[in-house]
Amino acid sequence: MEQLICQGCGAEIQTSEESEVGYAPPSSLNKEIVLCKRCFRLKHYNEIQDVNISDDDFLQMVSSIRDTDGLIVHLIDIFDVDGTLLKSLPRITGANPILLVGNKLDLLPKSTNVNKLKNWLQREASQLGIKVKDIAFISSKKGTGIDSLKQLIETYRGKKDVFIVGTTNVGKSTFINKLIEQSTGEANAITTSYFPGTTLGFIEIPLDERNVLVDTPGIVNKQQMAHYVSDKDLKTITPNKEIKARVYQLQDQQTLFIGGLARLDFLKGEKQSFVCYFSNELSIHRTKLEKADALYEDHLGALLSPPDSESVNNLPEFVGKTFKLNDEKTDIVFPGLGWISVQGKGATVQAHTWKGISITVRKSLI
Ligand code: GDP
Repeated sequence: MEQLICQGCGAEIQTSEESEVGYAPPSSLNKEIVLCKRCFRLKHYNEIQDVNISDDDFLQMVSSIRDTDGLIVHLIDIFDVDGTLLKSLPRITGANPILLVGNKLDLLPKSTNVNKLKNWLQREASQLGIKVKDIAFISSKKGTGIDSLKQLIETYRGKKDVFIVGTTNVGKSTFINKLIEQSTGEANAITTSYFPGTTLGFIEIPLDERNVLVDTPGIVNKQQMAHYVSDKDLKTITPNKEIKARVYQLQDQQTLFIGGLARLDFLKGEKQSFVCYFSNELSIHRTKLEKADALYEDHLGALLSPPDSESVNNLPEFVGKTFKLNDEKTDIVFPGLGWISVQGKGATVQAHTWKGISITVRKSLI
């Protein structure tokens, strides 16, 4: 019997285990477009279901790329570089050339300096031992940068296949949909959603008579902010339009809470502005440092939300990291959430978020 493939996520269709990847009820198999139950629900009800698949399975599936000859296009979310830049990439890709592509460019303020962004990414990648041929920025949603990326891909792929690799939720499906839409005019060929963990299996799209573009399974990075919060909260923290800067003039010994997901204490330094770049829906609270612990204890999940009252109990420990800034304008980056830009002026700050999520600093992008 010919193996049926889900037209949404690429998983092999099976009709025996309802909670596993690729399940479809037998009655749905003779439809023209076969979807697994998960993709069907997502498509028609905009609702995600959990499927049992282990991280090891994901890695094993993707690792098969190492043994083939192709161009790797590594898609990341420029809003969550630490959570989406794959530390295992050199292991996965072997000797294949890599193009690093930062998606969701539309979310950054127009004043962002893309060259600085590129330099920062270059550094982040090389720190992980990832050698990239080139870096490009796109918005899969808006279509920005897709044409130049297509040219870059043509330049580097020679006659090889192209593998699109990324963690879940970076916008891989949206990107490939855009490519399909541009080549065939058919919208929504692949499932897209807000929720991490959606894309399973490989999907092959012909590039020419001999070569294909391959959508690989989205790798789950458990340390991504997206995995700590509820679906509702994920909608709040994921920006859906250009981010507006919110400016706070802070004295030392003042604290900013980003919902209840992150916190910045201004420990020492001259009064200065703290410019916050987060989803416009995410509320920010200012308080005195001496009151911050009590506020967090008493109001997490309510005044300080997200997390909502449902997620509060599943969250790991909140931990702080201290940075002494020099006189240069610096961004304190909270992966998956956004960043706070500080003038510097010798300030000492302490930044807090969940254990496992790594807060970093970079030269300001704006
Ligand atoms: P995948 O898991 O990598 O396949 O990611 P999806 O394509 O399902 O996208 C994940 C989420 O990011 C969805 O809510 C998309 O609408 C959103 N998204 C994808 N690309 C972009 C983009 O370029 N800009 C913005 N603002 N959102 C995007």
